[in-house]
Amino acid sequence: MSNQVETVVRGPEAYALARNVIVEMEKSGVWPTPLNFELWLHYLGDPEGPLGLAIQKLLAEATPISDETSEMLAAQFLPRGRLSEEIRDAGAVLDRELSSVAEAITKAHKTQLDYGQTLAGASETLEAADQVTVLKDIVGDLSTATRRVRRETAILEKRLANSNQEVARLREHLDQVRRDAMTDALTNLANRKAFDEQLAAVCAVESKTPLCLAVLDIDHFKRFNDTWGHQTGDQVLRYVSTVLSRICVGRRFAARFGGEEFAIIFPGESSGAVMSALESIRQEVSSRGLRRRSTNDDLGAVTISAGFAERQAGESAASLLERADAALYASKRGGRNKVSSAPPLKDAA
Ligand code: C2E
Repeated sequence: MSNQVETVVRGPEAYALARNVIVEMEKSGVWPTPLNFELWLHYLGDPEGPLGLAIQKLLAEATPISDETSEMLAAQFLPRGRLSEEIRDAGAVLDRELSSVAEAITKAHKTQLDYGQTLAGASETLEAADQVTVLKDIVGDLSTATRRVRRETAILEKRLANSNQEVARLREHLDQVRRDAMTDALTNLANRKAFDEQLAAVCAVESKTPLCLAVLDIDHFKRFNDTWGHQTGDQVLRYVSTVLSRICVGRRFAARFGGEEFAIIFPGESSGAVMSALESIRQEVSSRGLRRRSTNDDLGAVTISAGFAERQAGESAASLLERADAALYASKRGGRNKVSSAPPLKDAA
């Protein structure tokens, strides 16, 4: 099922909905930026939809709706993202390039036809000709026609070379856009969309090698935001991500799952290896005392809780995620700053 929203914004109720959007944004202390307006429009249009529930959760947790948060919500839930705009623009450039090349080919083709006719005409005249002057005229015409063909061919080659360059530039740009669409802007880790796709892909293949999924959460993260402000909260998120990136090399796939939650896919590693990697992350994160950059205040240690589950044969991505999540909550209940593993499915049942 798609997460993306569809809201009817035409019809008699649309104006009432739009007015309500402003009222509700003001009530929640959300700036009426165009993006926030769009998000709230969909949220109020369908409060029980995936976007509505995500926003309600953020509001219930009193998470400030920063530009970052709005971008994340948009990337995850809005159907028309920057990606589709970029793709539309790229499509327009490609159309232009293709028409220009097609035009050049048509012109070159016509010139070749004319050339063929000129040659045929020359051959007929040659058969009838017995004078040197006629011969000279024929050679002159042929040489003019040959120059014209050469010129058209050169133009066509140039157009093709330009088009090749433009298409290569476009491909590079689209690759970058695609990478951006899959990356969390704050932490540079893969975003939720990329994570969902990756998890679905690895779970679609039945393999004899193990597959583990871990979910990690920064303990008492709200406290950093509330006490030190949002900017410091963002730095804490970046700090944890750098530790994750350092340890998640090779086939490990780390992503920002949402808010202060992260997820890691460990293909081909045993539970023991995963436990020790998560322990390294936990210890490394908590080993450093952070300071508030602007005032040098001691922020104290950041700790994380983690849970992981090993996929059982035939288990769905949703079930694996649910078990990893349950293990994370076991760590939270157990006092935080811990790593827990989920029991195998049959034991959990
Ligand atoms: P960042 O602020 O973008 O810093 C990136 C990297 O630049 C850091 O990687 C570190 O190697 C270097 N760096 C930046 N500022 C300083 C500094 O004042 N002193 C020193 N010695 N090095 C500095 P690192 O350490 O892996 O940190 C990654 C991210 O974690 C940082 O990104 C920042 O967002 C956060 N972070 C790390 N330590 C602290 C801290 O003590 N306080 C705050 N507020 N954030 C921190």
